[in-house]
Amino acid sequence: MPFTLRGDDVCQPTPPTPISDPYWVALSPSVAELIGVELGDQGKPRNPEWLDVLAGNRLDVGGLAFSYPVSTVYSGHQFGVWAGQLGDGRAILLGDINGLELQLKGAGKTRYSRMGDGRAVLRSSIREFLCSEAMHALGIPTSRALAVVGSKQTVIRETIETAAVCSRTAPSFIRVGHFEHFASQQNLTRLKELADLLMNKFYPECLSDKDPYLSLFKEISSRNAKLVAQWQSVGFCHGVLNSDNISALGLTIDYGPFGFLDQFEIDHICNHSDHGGRYAYHRQPQIMHWNMACLASAMLPLLELDHSLEESQDLLRSALEEFPLEYAKEWQQAFRLKLGLQSEQDGDIQLIERLLQAMHDSKVDFTSFFRKLGNLKKDSKPIEILQRNEFIDRVNIDEWFSDYIGRLQLELLDDQSRKVLMNRMNPKYILRNHLAQVAIEKAQQNDFSEVDTLLKILSKPFDEQEAFEDYSKPPPSDMYRVAVSCSS
Ligand code: AMP
Ligand code: MG
Repeated sequence: MPFTLRGDDVCQPTPPTPISDPYWVALSPSVAELIGVELGDQGKPRNPEWLDVLAGNRLDVGGLAFSYPVSTVYSGHQFGVWAGQLGDGRAILLGDINGLELQLKGAGKTRYSRMGDGRAVLRSSIREFLCSEAMHALGIPTSRALAVVGSKQTVIRETIETAAVCSRTAPSFIRVGHFEHFASQQNLTRLKELADLLMNKFYPECLSDKDPYLSLFKEISSRNAKLVAQWQSVGFCHGVLNSDNISALGLTIDYGPFGFLDQFEIDHICNHSDHGGRYAYHRQPQIMHWNMACLASAMLPLLELDHSLEESQDLLRSALEEFPLEYAKEWQQAFRLKLGLQSEQDGDIQLIERLLQAMHDSKVDFTSFFRKLGNLKKDSKPIEILQRNEFIDRVNIDEWFSDYIGRLQLELLDDQSRKVLMNRMNPKYILRNHLAQVAIEKAQQNDFSEVDTLLKILSKPFDEQEAFEDYSKPPPSDMYRVAVSCSS
């Protein structure tokens, strides 16, 4: 299995704790296919034992046996402060299938549960399930979700809720926090094993580099720089960018109080517990950079195997300086394409920034604005563009549209071809909080149809889906601030 490090100081054998009366809430057919789970007519696994496996009630199905379920130890920085040892407090790694790790989230206590109950509520499990699949369909690297299994069993949060288990997969769930753990323990042997494992399985190109560990650091950092640029381009806010929630493969992992922007507010905070706004939308790039600095200091002893301390620090420091450059390059390219600009021209960045400032000032809906922008023509007149009505300062936006149209005229593509490309960058459908909320409330009444409908819509976020036009719309005014509880 991918997590091949073994030993008490790395992971603990952790059989899931059975849950009472499990039932299907949701299942992703494409992930089922990825891991080779055959589905029957009802869209559920042909072998009914899968329900018990994904509930944490049994460890074998057909010829497959998960004989060594484990939880792993990691440490990390939470909200900028060293939190010491954490670990999989409610995630159990069952094993791997087809090169993917299969984890059960909410399947009971582990050695690392600390004060927690090891469970997850139905609400947060549905949100993780839908968002993982939505992000994947948006083309953003992420862990995937196989299923949500519900139960009558209750758990206590702010109120009493029912428990659920979300099964999720990724090539590996190794995090920055795993590095930080072994570094804090000054356990160079484990640190090296972890880095070697990652290179052997996922970054083989680093092995032939003259400085493999530096190269590994650069690759991880580069993937995460690209990842945040992608988040920004679809208005995704992760909510809890603690170093233990940052993937060593550059995947979006550990969905909690995340949120997609409705109205564009650059400093939007999706996590209601994040009072200082550390993880606000506009801070995500800088915070990811900070997390890469955590990774760099954790990897320092690895560089010292070949270099002096000072040399190692210099090498990592300059590698870290590449992050903002790489991020900026990706961000600029993503937003150019959102505007339908295939070529690079002087003034493009100012054009993008002026638009975002105007959208922020008028709280314009992020997703639908960009989607509709594709309808513009090279000969449109600013005054006739309906979207101008979404802005308070019409003089300013007319000037912007005029400059934008001028800029479009430098593009070779005709209006229709540009629109086609823009529609591949500007999704029509995202997992808006109010949509998730409706699906959750129905599911809490044992009606899972809305979860299924959302899964279907969000798996084709760039397509026009006429029957589901309403799902593309901004929330009604009374649902703008759906409270996303962080207790999950
Ligand atoms: P998160 O912010 O959700 O990534 O969680 C931070 C840490 O708390 C991780 O080590 C989790 O495993 C742990 N944790 C969160 N919720 C629970 C829970 N209900 N029971 C046990 N551990 C938990
Ligand atoms: Mg986490």
